[in-house]
Amino acid sequence: MKKHAIIPIFISHRGCPNNCVFCNQKKITARQGDVTPQDARRTIEEHLSTLKEMPLEAIEIAFFGGSFTGIPVEDQRSFLSIAKEYKDCGKVSAIHLSTRPDYINEEILDNLKAYGVDIIELGVQSLDPEVLRLSGRGHDADTVYRSAALIREYGFTLGIQLMIGLPGDTLEKCIFSANETVKMSPQIARLYPTVVIKDTPLYDMYLDGRYLPLSEEDAINRTKAMYEILDNAGVNIIRVGLKSSDIMADQLAFHPAFRQLVEGRIARERLQTQIERIYCKTHPDAPDFCGRAVFISNEKCYNNMFGHKGCNRQYFEKLYPHLEIKYIKDTEAGISLADNEYKVLVTGPV
Ligand code: SF4
Repeated sequence: MKKHAIIPIFISHRGCPNNCVFCNQKKITARQGDVTPQDARRTIEEHLSTLKEMPLEAIEIAFFGGSFTGIPVEDQRSFLSIAKEYKDCGKVSAIHLSTRPDYINEEILDNLKAYGVDIIELGVQSLDPEVLRLSGRGHDADTVYRSAALIREYGFTLGIQLMIGLPGDTLEKCIFSANETVKMSPQIARLYPTVVIKDTPLYDMYLDGRYLPLSEEDAINRTKAMYEILDNAGVNIIRVGLKSSDIMADQLAFHPAFRQLVEGRIARERLQTQIERIYCKTHPDAPDFCGRAVFISNEKCYNNMFGHKGCNRQYFEKLYPHLEIKYIKDTEAGISLADNEYKVLVTGPV
């Protein structure tokens, strides 16, 4: 059952002076026009009328899109006063927005506090100086650390968005960015493998060979490494990859079930490590992987054990042809496992 709903309002940043290589915001804005506060109110009303029958614990109004705090302050106030109205009368529980790290300072945060904003997500993308430079972000890593610290000091919930596979990025830089993110103590994070969108500098770089998009395998491996660092630190990873509805036909995007690919790979590795540990203990010279085993997860992660379209099951069948594997939920085993926690029991002769 859905407990949490977000009412997304896409505020484009018309006149954004930055030139992030992956962004086609200017083209989108030119085609779609700007959202007005009246449009925002209409969107909120429409969502509330469809959500009212649902037993939800929380409804958020979220200003996504460009850089909310980069638009003129009068415009910010027009949008925020509408959101505050709905929050004050209890129809929504939180106000959420995303922005750039260099559009954060005390004055901006005082304004957001006055309008009851709860969650600020920073589009950080990377903490590696070279990746930031090659991606045309227009700010350095120190700006990110300063803004994140200020957001936490003010008592907002901090979110960090990171991209995987921007120009100059490597697995090591991804791991570095994830570790640096943990040091900033965000409560939430999003991980986006880079999507090459037409009409962007990145697309031109791709066409003339200066940019090589990540293979799906590299994207999974890098995202998995970052996911595990953030997850182990208790950061709530609210999105991995784009929603299928966000992927347009003319984009070089990753799999619509990308999150399941990443979480499935984590499940596979955690199960394999345990099964090998068990067999190597009993047969250190030649583990034979014969017998019967039970793989266990909680209900939420049950499908991750099988992997997308059963790829993990096929993987294990091929790897351990003489091992009979049963997949069960923790409740059936009388235990309780956390998300991304997997347990292996060997029930047959080892
Ligand atoms: S991604 Fe970069 S270029 Fe695009 S709107 Fe945001 S700051 Fe501007």
